[in-house]
Amino acid sequence: MTAAPAPEAGIADGSLITVEAYQAAILAAISPLPPAGLELADAEGCVLAEDVTAAVSLPSFDNSSMDGYAIQAADTDHSSERKPATLPVTGEIAAGDTGTHRLTPGTAIRIMTGARLPAGADAVVPVEWTDGGSARVEIYRPVAAGNAVRYVGGDATAGETLLEKGARMRPMQIAVAASAGRKTVKVRPRPRVVVLSTGNELAEPGTPLVPGRIWDSNSYMIAAAAREAGAHSVRRSVVPDDPAGMLPALEAQLSHADLLVTTGGVSMGGEHDVVKAALRELGTVAFRKVAMQPGMPQGFGTLGDGRVPIFTLPGNPVSAYVSFQLFVRPAIAALQDSDDLRLPAVRAALAGAVRSPEGRRSYLRGVLSGDTVTPLSGQGSHQIAALGRANALIVVPEDVTRLPDGETVEVLVLP
Ligand code: AMP
Ligand code: MG
Repeated sequence: MTAAPAPEAGIADGSLITVEAYQAAILAAISPLPPAGLELADAEGCVLAEDVTAAVSLPSFDNSSMDGYAIQAADTDHSSERKPATLPVTGEIAAGDTGTHRLTPGTAIRIMTGARLPAGADAVVPVEWTDGGSARVEIYRPVAAGNAVRYVGGDATAGETLLEKGARMRPMQIAVAASAGRKTVKVRPRPRVVVLSTGNELAEPGTPLVPGRIWDSNSYMIAAAAREAGAHSVRRSVVPDDPAGMLPALEAQLSHADLLVTTGGVSMGGEHDVVKAALRELGTVAFRKVAMQPGMPQGFGTLGDGRVPIFTLPGNPVSAYVSFQLFVRPAIAALQDSDDLRLPAVRAALAGAVRSPEGRRSYLRGVLSGDTVTPLSGQGSHQIAALGRANALIVVPEDVTRLPDGETVEVLVLP
């Protein structure tokens, strides 16, 4: 990792930083993970750190694209339903047959899809255009030279770049690399993200609740969101608000994390904000107020000798979720030397008026359908039930405090 943004660099504790400035500071502090050679079966979701070129032309031999008969096209020039061309069938070539076959003019060879075209043939007549005969075949229409033939190099020529460095290995790209004969590829691996919830009020889902406690949702949510962003993620059990125990609890995760995410304990308040208190002293994590709602209190920096990036997200579940999508998701991409994980932005008409605080950009939960977005009721940052209904975030700029029904707005589409 390169240097984290200096804590509070040039920013008074109370002043707000824009979303973009905060995103930029994060991305500037993240170095991509070192490339590793991975077996193709393990490369899905990784980002290529090399070009993949075709070892051979694709296809590497002329072959049939249909089940039918290899022929010389000229032998069918005058064929029709009423006066079919009739050719003796002299053999059969199945896919995978590596033998040498030669077609004699005036004859046909049965051929299967993907089988190598015999020497002397210049076309394949699909079985559907024939009587399907095995000793002799009747062909009911003229066949053009080249019909149903897939020529050498018709897809790619030997040496051609098939996948460029920076491509994400999705199933299609895995197929391309395999087709290029690659057993392994050099990639930026999926980052290992470790997620911890902090707070004395948190109980494990599935255990009984006593008044004053809530079930921990954040660690499950953030671990799932990190996985959705292509990371390997694990959640750890809840960390209590213990000032002496907090830093050791975080440091215990460093050996197996490329990125740490905590939630809770970073509000503007006092001694109960244990995460902030524990990390602030290190000087490698900056705590900032970002001009947004939800999600104003944010922390980001590095931890340990390995300078593992750490995000300390606010505890309210909606704040944690929005913060993840805006800040952590692009950082996961950056660890893979990629920038393909930003949420797509679209324009839509508001179906309902909205309000937003002066000086802060709101990310309101909404339901996007076609070119209309409906703001959900329940915009509090604790209102997880409404979050569960959302598929989009409605962006209300910093200088706008209200938008009427029907107004066109920017909408971020949630993954
Ligand atoms: P904090 O940021 O620790 O002050 O927490 C802000 C609010 O978020 C409080 O109401 C917490 O109870 C709630 N909260 C914190 N962590 C979680 C969590 N893991 N799951 C659900 N709610 C949480
Ligand atoms: Mg707390």
